[in-house]
Amino acid sequence: MKIIMLGAPGAGKGTQAKMIADKYAVPHVSTGDIFRANIKNGTELGMEAKKYMDQGQLVPDELTVKILLDRVAQDDCKNGYVLDGFPRTIPQAEVLDEALTKLGDKIDFAINVDVPDENIIKRMSGRRACVNCGATYHIEHVPPKTEGICDRCGKELILRDDDKPETVKNRLKVYHDQTQPLIDFYTKKGILKSVDGTKDMNDVFAAITAILG
Ligand code: ADP
Ligand code: AMP
Repeated sequence: MKIIMLGAPGAGKGTQAKMIADKYAVPHVSTGDIFRANIKNGTELGMEAKKYMDQGQLVPDELTVKILLDRVAQDDCKNGYVLDGFPRTIPQAEVLDEALTKLGDKIDFAINVDVPDENIIKRMSGRRACVNCGATYHIEHVPPKTEGICDRCGKELILRDDDKPETVKNRLKVYHDQTQPLIDFYTKKGILKSVDGTKDMNDVFAAITAILG
């Protein structure tokens, strides 16, 4: 099963993608996580990506598409995957489509996690991410057992630089300009399904599993 998660930054794509990955035993592929891992390891790709991420801008398609296609060509993606944060532009979606068509393959579902802008800034300022394993929490909605400490690996939780309100505003604008058109793109392909992302995360997940079967 090949799934794309769509939605504004902070809509809950990563939260739901992790739950889908567990239930359906497919890898969770997040381009944002791949970039952050590269930044942490000080790679050239990480240095380049950081320039854009810190501004709330998209990393250029040339860089992003290559790392995504390399990732989904790996063995663990043979039986499917859940893409979180990719595609974010029409050209990215087209390249993915072409690559899959060449393999006689296709995306099965594009799940749009729908959350209005007014909820997003609050969500993002409460998000905390583990510096080590990338697990995410929310100080009100999904708190860790011990404040500031990751339940999974015991390392420190931080507010991502790009989750500060000034940057979130840019990211929302970029989302509306460049990513939202994908809703139309996948509607036309007949695979778009929307869920109400303002509900409790378990209710959102129930709506998604009702779609995926
Ligand atoms: P995205 O991957 O779309 O950027 P996340 O999954 O990281 O979003 O979620 C953004 C923030 O909102 C996180 O702090 C997360 O814990 C929290 N969150 C996710 N889903 C919900 C929900 N249904 N209700 C309330 N908070 C949520
Ligand atoms: P995310 O973790 O999905 O919120 O992504 C964090 C940041 O990484 C984004 O704001 C972009 O700067 C960059 N990024 C992640 N995925 C992509 C993508 N598919 N295309 C361009 N930039 C991306």
